[in-house]
Amino acid sequence: MVENQKTLARAGEIEGVGLHSGRRAWLRLTPSGPDSGIVFARRDCGGFEIPAIHRYLKGTSFATTLARGDMVVSTVEHLLSALQGLGIDNARIEVDGPEVPIMDGSALPFVDLIRAAGVRSLGARRRYLTVRRPISLKDGEREILAVPANDFQITYAIDFPHPAIGYQAVTASISEGAYVASIAPARTFCMLRDVQAMRQAGLALGGSLENALVIGEDGVMNASLRYADECVRHKVLDLVGDLALLGAPLRAHVIATKGGHRLHAALIGKLLASQGSWSLGTSEELLPAAHLAQFAHLSEKLVRSRVALTA
Ligand SMILES: [Zn+2]
Repeated sequence: MVENQKTLARAGEIEGVGLHSGRRAWLRLTPSGPDSGIVFARRDCGGFEIPAIHRYLKGTSFATTLARGDMVVSTVEHLLSALQGLGIDNARIEVDGPEVPIMDGSALPFVDLIRAAGVRSLGARRRYLTVRRPISLKDGEREILAVPANDFQITYAIDFPHPAIGYQAVTASISEGAYVASIAPARTFCMLRDVQAMRQAGLALGGSLENALVIGEDGVMNASLRYADECVRHKVLDLVGDLALLGAPLRAHVIATKGGHRLHAALIGKLLASQGSWSLGTSEELLPAAHLAQFAHLSEKLVRSRVALTA
């Protein structure tokens, strides 16, 4: 079946605090036309636009920041993850400051916002970015690999030297149902000692147990977890959001171990620079099974036991 591009049916807005500034942050999602992509607009600066594509990626420490000239918008990844997870190709996001509100530290409030606004199909074909040849990157123990596939799958493993986290690994086909049920609600997490260091550096001023899982010496300080393996699920959420910077929905199996925003961004940069390793095509243009079979063994690499996430 031929798939068309989607946007929102109506506008919707949401308000919260900026994770780093601790100040009130507001945003408004509005529908936009075919091939316009996801674009941020700084309403406090005359509507200055920053497209959500890899070219404008500025920083990846603690959160994903986009910049065009002197103008920035940061902590974009959870909102981009929700848009990608729900298949929104085109939207304009007005913000009234440099940060997207952190909300509860997950993508769920943005999923609810998009669903309340509704989704509308546009009269133009969706174009997928399909990985045709494997791309991999290694940085010490951190490793990431994109393997050719005719759908979008993620396998992720983390191994934190803390008894409250330890080894966690999941694999998921990123369908809308699986995304909403198993990934979007997973909250960001941090170590208490890192929070103390960030506060001293003037960062994470808006951070609290309301918008992050905080891991202290004795374990998780929040009242409860949403999933036993909430931390690795949040890594999947972040990767979905970072991959939105490709500017087109992805068809590949991405396998990451001990990754983070920096490794995700490095993969995107390497992939985009490796012309011939990917192509753009409509939903009907699939890779032949014999081509995929050559790389099937790679999908088993990197990650030992893992839990399959479904809707
Ligand atoms: Zn995150």
